[in-house]
Order: sequence, then structure tokens, then C-alpha cells
Amino acid sequence: MANNAAPLPSASGPTPAGGGANPTEADPAQAIEQALSELQQANQRLVTHGLPAKAGEEQVAKLRGREPTAAKAGAKAQQALLKDIETARDAARKEADLLTEITAILADADAQAAQLQADGLPVGQVTDTIAGLRKRMAAAASGGVAALTKFRGAAAQMRDRIKGDADKQRTAQTGGAVDAIKDLRDTASDQIDQITDGTAKDPLVKDLAALNKMIDALQQQKDPAKFAPARDAADAAARALLKQTAAASPDKKKAKTALRGAYQKALKERYGIDLGGNKDQTAEHIDLEQVYETLESMPVGHVAHKKMKNITYTARLRSGNHGIGMYNGAGMELGEIEGDTDGYRDPTHPKEKPQVPRLAITVLHELGHSVDGRWGIMDGDISKDGYGGWRSFSGLEAVAQELAAVYLNGGQAGGADTDALVKAIVAVINKRTDIEVPEDMQDPAARKKFEAFLHRCGNIMSEDFNGRGFSFSNGHWHSYSRTVRAKTQVTNYQWSAPGEWFAELYAMTWYLKRDPPSDIDPKVKLYLYSSKTGGAGPGAPGQPGA
Ligand SMILES: [Zn+2]
Repeated sequence: MANNAAPLPSASGPTPAGGGANPTEADPAQAIEQALSELQQANQRLVTHGLPAKAGEEQVAKLRGREPTAAKAGAKAQQALLKDIETARDAARKEADLLTEITAILADADAQAAQLQADGLPVGQVTDTIAGLRKRMAAAASGGVAALTKFRGAAAQMRDRIKGDADKQRTAQTGGAVDAIKDLRDTASDQIDQITDGTAKDPLVKDLAALNKMIDALQQQKDPAKFAPARDAADAAARALLKQTAAASPDKKKAKTALRGAYQKALKERYGIDLGGNKDQTAEHIDLEQVYETLESMPVGHVAHKKMKNITYTARLRSGNHGIGMYNGAGMELGEIEGDTDGYRDPTHPKEKPQVPRLAITVLHELGHSVDGRWGIMDGDISKDGYGGWRSFSGLEAVAQELAAVYLNGGQAGGADTDALVKAIVAVINKRTDIEVPEDMQDPAARKKFEAFLHRCGNIMSEDFNGRGFSFSNGHWHSYSRTVRAKTQVTNYQWSAPGEWFAELYAMTWYLKRDPPSDIDPKVKLYLYSSKTGGAGPGAPGQPGA
């Protein structure tokens, strides 16, 4: 009776309290009847979870069929039969409990997915996964307790994964947002205390009182529909007040430090984003106010997630005369980033030459990498035109082989073998001036043609080889479709690698609030700005434009 000793995890079904009758005291036939009835009840619960009734009915009939023989054979046989029935009953109960649990987990997963969608994330994949699990539940049940236990584990893991994001986003929208506003307010209040000049101080004191009222009202607000606009208004007021107090402060340097400290705290409280590395240095070198403002302009689902943990100042990140950024898999690293850049363009309005603040666009670019890292956007079929038409190469040798094939498509080998062509191409890509036509290439016309081709290979990054452009980035060679580039170019840098292709497109569409070119794959568009679905801002779903 060991099976019966432990209480069941949740007796949510119509199981009578106390479980089975005690067989040592009752009439064995009666005990068998009782256990069979309990088995039927447990089976009935399985039926309510969508399992076919037939299997359970057959099981009961088979066990019941053994009863007359057992009764004739005596107490020992009856005990054995009773034990078999109880084992079947306990298994059915356990299965029903597991199914109840799994159903609850999947319902919870639905709720988490709804939260993600409300916070601007596409949830098609998530809802498909949930629907798939729901469909497979009955099949898993036919595998018994072991299969269902495994299934429950998979369902819980899936739910926890999306809940992790949803929790972060809930915080960013509610409690964390209020805490962040209070931090900004507290810092402003401290700054106001430092100001002695009455004419400067009085209006700020008034604004502070108004802000306090807004925060109080926000904390009382229970209606989510009213909470969001009230939160955004209080946030804007707090940020404006902090800016004004810092400007009016008698000690500008101290005020600036205080302002940065406030944004450091706000980033953590609202988005769970820490300052990495040397925090003081990061706060000193990165304009956290602008970073915060940029992040606030995005759907919160893109910001508050587990692949965007921290922001770190990294002095060595420089290119030319300005700082740059990088995404390190867990957060963004930024160099000393100042000034504007005009390299960005909207491919659908190519004549415009927008000036974009370098810090904001860099933050969005790195955020794009984090979104790609979290949701595996460029893990899709990047060879499709809608993804840039990318191809990857194992190394320079493979690139040269491809180029040799391009040459042989229209040119003559002239006596040289392909290996010799490949070798010559590798040499010129490594060193632009190393133009050596293979000696075996005897035919003068072929020599002339191949030499011209080698010159083009020396300019591999800008030449068009049979409709393909080539790039080399972080030790990796890629090629892409030149036609797609012409239609979807946001920046030159976009064409250095597939990940950069996405990050630049991401930064441009979100910063300029422009729809991506129509040729972009719908699965990529899910994460880009869309004017049709309300655009940026917390709660704006990044649905495909089409
Ligand atoms: Zn990048």
C-alpha cells in the first residue's frame, strides 16, 4: 500500500476524502468494488481533460472481469486484484492531477503572452508553442505518469521563460516605473533645497508640489487604462523638473552628478538595467539622461528583457574621431559618444539626409542586437531577400572559390587550373597590389581578362560580382544581394554582417519612426517600427506593417 501512503499533490477531482477503504477491515469484495468506483472517478477526470473514455472503460471492465475468479481463489487472490486496481486508480489520479496542473500552467502561459503582446512584442511564436503543447497534451497522457511528468516539466519551462520577460515588463510598466519617477523627484527635491535665490527657487517649489500630487494620484490609480497615461505624465514632469533644477543649481557640477545618479537608479528600477564595469566612470562618460529618454521611446518589451542587463562605458570603443558602441551578449558597451551623424537614411525616402544624434542611434542599434539576441531574428533564413540575401563563408579560401567560379562563368581558364585561380584571388584580397596571373595561364586573352578580374577582386568590398557584394567583419566573410542592398540600404555599415543589417534597420526605423522598406521579410518587420500599429511607446505592439 505504499502508493497510497503519500497524500496526492492536489485532490482537485471528485475524490472522496480519505482515499480508499481500508481493505484489512472491510469485506474484500466490497473493497474491490470501492476501489473500482474510485478508478472510474479518476478516469472520469481524465475524460474531462480530453482523453478518450474507451480506454478507461476497458481497463475497468478487465479488472472487474477478474473478480469472480479471485473470489473463488480466496483472500490472497482478492488482495492481489485489489492491489492492481489501487495501482491503476493511483496512476489515473496522478495523471489527472498532472493534467490539471498542466492546464493551469498553459493558462498562465496565455496570460504571460498577453502581457508580452501588450508591451510591444510579437507573440505569434509563443502562442503557437502554447497551442502546440495544448494539442499534444492528450497524446502525452496516453504515455502515463512518466510521460505527463516530463510534459509538465516542458510546459513549466516554456511558461517560466516567457514569464521572466513578462515580469520584467510588468515592473517596467508599474512599480518600477513609479519608483523611477520618485527617484527623479527626490533628486530634484534635493537640488531645489540647494538653491538660495528665491526667484529661481519659487517656481520650482511649485512644480515639485504639483509633481508630488501627480505621484500620489498615480499610486492611488487602480485602473490600468488610466494608470499608463498618468505614469507617462508624471514621468515627463519629473524629468523636466530635474532638468530645470540642475540648470538652476548654484553648483552645476554637483547637480550634474546628482542628475546622472538619478538616471542610474531610474534605469535599474524601471528596466532592471545596471551600470556595468566601473559604475562611476560609466555615469560620468555616458549621458544617462539621453539613454533613458531613448529607451523610454521604445516598446518596453524591447528594453526590459534578459539579454539587456547592463550599460557599460568602454573607453577603447572608438572609430575615427568618435566613440562607438557594441553589444556583448548581455548588455551594451558605449565609448565616448558625442555629436550627430548623417549616415542614416530611410530607403523609401532616399533623398532626405537626416541628422541623427549619435548616442540615441547607437543605443537603438545596440538595443537592436539585444532584441535579435533575445528572439533570434537573424537565426531565420538569412539567404532570403527579405533578410538581405546573405551567404556566409567558412573563410577567405571559400570566398576565392566563389569568385573563381564567377570568373569562369564568363572567362577562360586559359590553361590554368581552378586552384591556381583561387590562389591568385586569395593573394590579391590579402594584398591589393599582389596581382599575379598564374603562369599556367598561357592564353593571352585569358591572361588579360583574368588580370582585370584580379583588379576587381582587390576592391572586393565595393565591386559587384554577379549581383553579389562581399563583406568581412569580426573575422567572418559574408556576401549579400546587391539588388537588395540598393532597395534596403539604411547605412553602409548595415552591409558588414547579417547582425548589423538588422541592427541598423532597427535603429533607423525606430529613431526616425519610419516604416521599413516593404521588401523586408514580415518576420523581421515584427521587430521594426510600424506606423500602422501605432508606432513606438510602451504598449505599442510591433506588428508587421503588411
Ligand atoms: Zn552592431
